[in-house]
Amino acid sequence: ERLIGGAAQGDEGRFDRALRPRGLAEYIGQASVCEQMEIFVSAARARGEALDHVLIFGPPGLGKTTMAHVIANEMQVGFRQTSGPVLERPGDLAALLTNLEPNDVLFIDEIHRLSPVVEEVLYPALEDYQIDIVIGEGPAARSIKLDLPPFTLVGATTRAGALTSPLRDRFGIAQRLEFYSHTDLARIVDRSAQILGVEIVAAGANEIARRARGTPRVANRLLRRVRDYAEVRADGRVSEAVAQQAMDMLKVDDNGFDIMDRKLLGALVEKFEGGPVGVESLAAAIGEARETIEDVIEPYLIQQGFMMRTPRGRLATSATYRHFGLPQPAGRAT
Ligand code: ADP
Repeated sequence: ERLIGGAAQGDEGRFDRALRPRGLAEYIGQASVCEQMEIFVSAARARGEALDHVLIFGPPGLGKTTMAHVIANEMQVGFRQTSGPVLERPGDLAALLTNLEPNDVLFIDEIHRLSPVVEEVLYPALEDYQIDIVIGEGPAARSIKLDLPPFTLVGATTRAGALTSPLRDRFGIAQRLEFYSHTDLARIVDRSAQILGVEIVAAGANEIARRARGTPRVANRLLRRVRDYAEVRADGRVSEAVAQQAMDMLKVDDNGFDIMDRKLLGALVEKFEGGPVGVESLAAAIGEARETIEDVIEPYLIQQGFMMRTPRGRLATSATYRHFGLPQPAGRAT
């Protein structure tokens, strides 16, 4: 299993839920998002209204699902969850919508993957709390309007650019989550260690934070593996040395890059001479799906200045050459 991969699965799902902050006060980092959400939630609650629809975007593992739960908890309303690819037919969405209680939060993950026919149902629901459903078939078919209770849609996406503009326009609130600072990640590691009953020194938490690709889910994953290592190879305590040894074993390097990151950067430098190269060619060269590169691997590399995204394709930077200990080709501006 890859350390930086996408959504949590199986066992990790349980672990994720146990570590998930419940309220805004527990939600670490993302200060400006939290400040805004606190104001919007307080105002909506004071008016006794549903919160405006919220779009949350950012790379996987940054806390989109967590924020959706936090919003429902802070609003003190019910929470329903689904995802774009799961809603295959308009009826699937209609069934969910008609079962909502007033002011409930409906969370749709990967909302950019909604099918166009399902999206059509969503428009009047978002705008007027109404849906059109078709009764009967053939020439006898007729459409009736159904009133819905007021509700809040929270949509999450890794790519805001993939949303159709009519859908995007229907969100009154849009929040972009940023990669987390080392300080915030260290606080997340500390908090998780406490919940899991793991003894960890500050330098150990920092070591994990530094290598977590700015991502809480990765920090929690690393902590879980470091805990295993500490239990088997040491006395269970996570010291700085234990954290370092565990991460060397996991092949997570000083920058937090793992095997896939190094493969991608390695291909860019060695097979494509630093680019520019199209993402499709890179995908073929390393045997990964284009979406995985775009959504999971490259956002952090770009944010850290190890890769550039240009209209002509992906480009290596001087940091990439330094990282691989390679001389930078002459005449390159980056
Ligand atoms: P996303 O939906 O963006 O993929 P999640 O909301 O599932 O990410 O977050 C992954 C895990 O990271 C959660 O289980 C949670 O424990 C942790 N996490 C995310 N954001 C925060 C945060 N701001 N503070 C503390 N833990 C967080």
